[in-house]
Amino acid sequence: SYRSRSAFKLLEMDEKWHFLTPRDVKVVVDLGSAPGGWSQVVAQKLGWDKTPAPRENDALRDSWSAINPLDISDPGLELSGRGRGTIVAVDLLRMNPIPGVQFVQADFLAPDTESLIHGLVARQVGEQGRTDVILCDMAGNSTGNTFHDIESSLAICTSVFEFTKRHIRSAESVGRELGGVLLIKHFAHPLLHHFRTQHLVPNFNDVRYLKPNASRTESKEGYFLCRGWKG
Ligand code: SAM
Repeated sequence: SYRSRSAFKLLEMDEKWHFLTPRDVKVVVDLGSAPGGWSQVVAQKLGWDKTPAPRENDALRDSWSAINPLDISDPGLELSGRGRGTIVAVDLLRMNPIPGVQFVQADFLAPDTESLIHGLVARQVGEQGRTDVILCDMAGNSTGNTFHDIESSLAICTSVFEFTKRHIRSAESVGRELGGVLLIKHFAHPLLHHFRTQHLVPNFNDVRYLKPNASRTESKEGYFLCRGWKG
């Protein structure tokens, strides 16, 4: 079973648009991952969940949620599993381990977090290695003050876009027009519309607004699905 209702939104979006399904998708970063529903879906799509963790690895696996990810010397499940690729998940809150998922407990907006994430990706695909799919379901705590909520959504989107510029794979290097994907949550507002036209539309081959059925209709949240990073 999934840890969050959000998992069904991701399943629904991928069922329709197939951004996690292609075999060449090998590196996925999940920002704002706790409690772990999206990470579970990604782990399934990359074939990790078919291999249950061997008992002797339990202690090692538990150490994954250690605060400092650099202390994690060897994600043993990765060696024993038959999943493909690398999944790096990030959240302010603790997250229970998921086979195939390397977890960083950190504030994404803090200056050091980017290099922690990149360090884990680089261990798998090398220093120059890039990320196929960046997912962001991050949201600040809603304050009830619309102005504050929009500001916070915009700050997250801007920072994720900066991260994307530096770490996403280009469509050309994937060899598919829609390769190099960013899926990002935001709150519907003219400022976020501006973010879309200014930053997303010029840089991706295909950008669309999605409102999954699993997302409550009254909430203002929606997702921009951006495919095919022009590089
Ligand atoms: N996709 C997740 C799932 O399926 O389980 C649910 C994500 S939940 C809607 C949003 C998450 O974003 C929260 O767990 C919150 O702690 C996290 N978050 C918000 N701001 C963050 C930040 N600056 N850095 C890291 N995580 C953040």
